[in-house]
Amino acid sequence: MRILIADDEPTNRLLLQQLLKAVAQCDPVADGREAVDFFKAAFDSELRYDLVLMDVMMPEMNGHDALASIRMFEELRGVTRDNEAVIILVTAIDAGDDAVAAFSIAFRTDYLQKPVLKENLFRKLREHQLLPGDPS
Ligand SMILES: [Mg+2]
Repeated sequence: MRILIADDEPTNRLLLQQLLKAVAQCDPVADGREAVDFFKAAFDSELRYDLVLMDVMMPEMNGHDALASIRMFEELRGVTRDNEAVIILVTAIDAGDDAVAAFSIAFRTDYLQKPVLKENLFRKLREHQLLPGDPS
């Protein structure tokens, strides 16, 4: 499994890499612009990302804009809904918020609340069928 980790805080990138290193090859980037660039380059190299963990508050391009950009790119490349990358926004925002929920549906994403705990992260991986095991 290949995972793109986008977060402007080095400690957050490191934490996610540590949690995931046993199950995935992780590429860390520091802002939304880099995330979009890496995503596109990987797509064209056929070494596509299975998952993008996207911080929301980042310089250059925030997580919401980067997410929208990635979904637009996939659409232009003819990626079907079944084959699009799993994108999980990592945020301090309450995922129960109406605006957050609407955004989540529009761009087919999911949310993981900071601080990221290993059990929550791995539950999301299972929910999105990125790991063996029941979605529970
Ligand atoms: Mg941030």
